[in-house]
Amino acid sequence: MIIGVDIDEVVADFSNMVLGELRQRHGVDLQREQWTMWNIEEVEDLLPYRAMIIDTIANAYAKQRMKTLAVIPSAQDTIRELAERHEMKFITARGNFFPEARAHTLHWFEKNRIPFQSIHFEHEKHVAAKELGVELFIEDNAGNALALAAIGVPVLLMDAPWNQNVAHPLITRVQDWHEIKEHIGRMEQQEAEQQDRIF
Ligand SMILES: [Mg+2]
Repeated sequence: MIIGVDIDEVVADFSNMVLGELRQRHGVDLQREQWTMWNIEEVEDLLPYRAMIIDTIANAYAKQRMKTLAVIPSAQDTIRELAERHEMKFITARGNFFPEARAHTLHWFEKNRIPFQSIHFEHEKHVAAKELGVELFIEDNAGNALALAAIGVPVLLMDAPWNQNVAHPLITRVQDWHEIKEHIGRMEQQEAEQQDRIF
């Protein structure tokens, strides 16, 4: 199976880095639960901190903090296992936000020994997914998930405070990589049963 995988908040912990930097740089202590839209600077309740949030994210990019992001729990092991049977194609919109995105991303994957078939820097993920023949996409962004589902690509949506109002028959909410592994295991089993019926 060709599996499309988003990077930030699916394999790389971007949100906790930003919240940590915000605390250090500005003494502002926000909780991840308050991050109710992916564009955090647009969250109404956080508008008093808007300038600090924008400054923190810009500083994190400039200070190359993207190179040292933590890996989301169990992502490494699960991806290594899945990569033995599936094509793992990572698709990220990072390239739109900082110029060294490609170099930093490759460095991060190598440093953390996460296997990949390919890494794509695309803003329109559903377009890229279609071109690449992606059969299942793992994503946390609500808009991307809906766009993928709309063109018939099933999505495993990594549960996050910023994607709570998303529902679609092709979108399955998952809590972590253990649930992702279970879901893919069920898909593999169904496929094997179909093959048995054919032969
Ligand atoms: Mg993401």
